[in-house]
Amino acid sequence: MNAVPETRRPTAHAEGDAVLVADQLAKHYDVKRGMFGHGTVKALNGVSFALTRGRTLAVVGESGCGKSTLARQLTMIEAPTSGRLLIDGQDVAGADHAKIAALRRRVQMVFQNPFASLNPRKTVEQTLGEPLAINTPLTSTERAERIAHMMRTVGLRPEHAKRYPHMFSGGQRQRVAIARAMILDPQIVVADEPVSALDVSIQAQILNLFMDLQEEFKTSYVFISHNLAVVEHIADDVMVMYFGGVAELGDNRTIFERPRHPYTRALMSATPSIFEADRRIRIKLQGEMPSPLNPPSGCTFHQRCPYAIDRCRQEEPKLREVDGRQVSCHRAEEVGDADA
Ligand code: SF4
Repeated sequence: MNAVPETRRPTAHAEGDAVLVADQLAKHYDVKRGMFGHGTVKALNGVSFALTRGRTLAVVGESGCGKSTLARQLTMIEAPTSGRLLIDGQDVAGADHAKIAALRRRVQMVFQNPFASLNPRKTVEQTLGEPLAINTPLTSTERAERIAHMMRTVGLRPEHAKRYPHMFSGGQRQRVAIARAMILDPQIVVADEPVSALDVSIQAQILNLFMDLQEEFKTSYVFISHNLAVVEHIADDVMVMYFGGVAELGDNRTIFERPRHPYTRALMSATPSIFEADRRIRIKLQGEMPSPLNPPSGCTFHQRCPYAIDRCRQEEPKLREVDGRQVSCHRAEEVGDADA
């Protein structure tokens, strides 16, 4: 499942107007194994997609599927082992230090836990002011105006600029974190489970804030989530990951209306609100993801897949186009049609 075809780069959209292109991105880690041995964990194994301006690509999958590793590559926190990352057409790999710093300003991140991601010793004014002071020629008065405007934009009161993170609620703290991500007007925001630590009653407000900001600033989002109800609400395109690779990639409607990968269908079956209207396609996800130190042969999902046949145990499925999406499954045509 992890390999992608060399002849065709799988994308949710054409790359011509893409602000971000991941091309066969891979990240492998060397790990100690036992007393003397070493092994390689392929946390990310050939992931490709293109993200266009003002769109949201949701990345979904279980814990350990490679979502957060992908986020670290996209935000340039880590360098990929292989593959290319292009931001606004510029190859990160060939960029010098100054260029990387400039590219980093274009890609900002929002983390799951705003309490952990915000410095508890800094006021909102300091948290939002520092990136402006470092990266822009704005005067202190202009910075204060920008901070007040951004606070209003994310639903915070500018008169609270001197407050510290602990003086805000969880939802307000995430608004501060979002304001920090947006203050330099980035082209891309990578949001890693940005609502999963919040009360359910607050989640919808923060999701709506993301959507309002996108409408206003035309920001592109990579929105990482394990919650398919959230993904269905916010995503234009959906990339389902399993074991470091792409299981299925396509636009929201295509994926949610007729998922063609058994793993996608199993994930959706585990989200009651999505398939309430159609119980025929429920698949129970059994077992756990295999050990990354001991990957299975053939399709990496075969040990958990109710559709698995001998071929699945022997031959790794390539990502290919089926019914308007990219999917890595030998039986994608049958899987989708069996329940129609
Ligand atoms: Fe993998 Fe085979 Fe199941 Fe498709 S049918 S997901 S190739 S095990």
